[in-house]
Amino acid sequence: MKINLAKSAGFCFGVKRAITIAEKTAKTKKSVVMLGDIVHNEEVVKQIRKSGIKKISRLSNGRGKTLIIRAHGCSKVIFSQALKLGYGVIDATCPMVKEIHKIAKRFESEGYRIIVIGDKLHDEVQGIIGQLNSEAIVIDKLKNIPLAKVSKIKRAAIVTQSTQNLDNVLKIFNVIRKYIPDIKFHNTICNPTRAKQNEVKTMPKENDVMIIIGSKTSANTKRIYEISKSLNKKSYWINSGKEIKIGWFKNASCVGVTAGASTPKSTINRVIHQIGRLFPVN
Ligand code: SF4
Repeated sequence: MKINLAKSAGFCFGVKRAITIAEKTAKTKKSVVMLGDIVHNEEVVKQIRKSGIKKISRLSNGRGKTLIIRAHGCSKVIFSQALKLGYGVIDATCPMVKEIHKIAKRFESEGYRIIVIGDKLHDEVQGIIGQLNSEAIVIDKLKNIPLAKVSKIKRAAIVTQSTQNLDNVLKIFNVIRKYIPDIKFHNTICNPTRAKQNEVKTMPKENDVMIIIGSKTSANTKRIYEISKSLNKKSYWINSGKEIKIGWFKNASCVGVTAGASTPKSTINRVIHQIGRLFPVN
């Protein structure tokens, strides 16, 4: 069995950076906390907990504590509340997410209504809309475009969640542009996501089977899986090598392997090892 590993598989730059910042902070500061999980991956969450960082669900008295802002970023209210409550704040927001904040704020200050194409409940989107003074519109799917609202807007600027699927974004944009006379569009899908999506548009056609590795809670892994599945029915989304079934590889001679932005290298290596054990080279 030939195993083809995607070049872009696994941690993106922003996740790597946030983990490094978190682990360094845990070594140098006492009482380090984080609002929610660092990324949507159980193994990484465990590793972060082991380093001594506590997950909290809300802010409280922050005196003597350090709060790490995750790669997805947070709203300006949370940031300023944390400072007011006495936390030392270490900002591990991905620079590419910060860039989206900047673009959205700039257009808001120029009088544009901000539209975010993304998942409303995702922390990154909450962080983007939480930078603004006015209410932004969030659209996740073509069928959920609020046309009554959109058709009343005269000027709008669109930004996208960094991990959105470009095809989905363009479909939404092509509809809303017909309703808004002055519209600016910023494709803020980040480079690591673009690289992953480009690879997953060719790999499923070149391999008999596709294995996509990542937590079932990871939105970007889900999107990679959906693209892969649409191109190759034999696409399987797993969180660990234990979930692999030998029947998936019937009549297959090559398997493509890729992984979401929050999947650690160790998990990817274990999966590759597991496939290698099932199909040893003689
Ligand atoms: S997916 Fe992109 S924007 Fe998000 S953390 Fe990774 S590099 Fe940054």
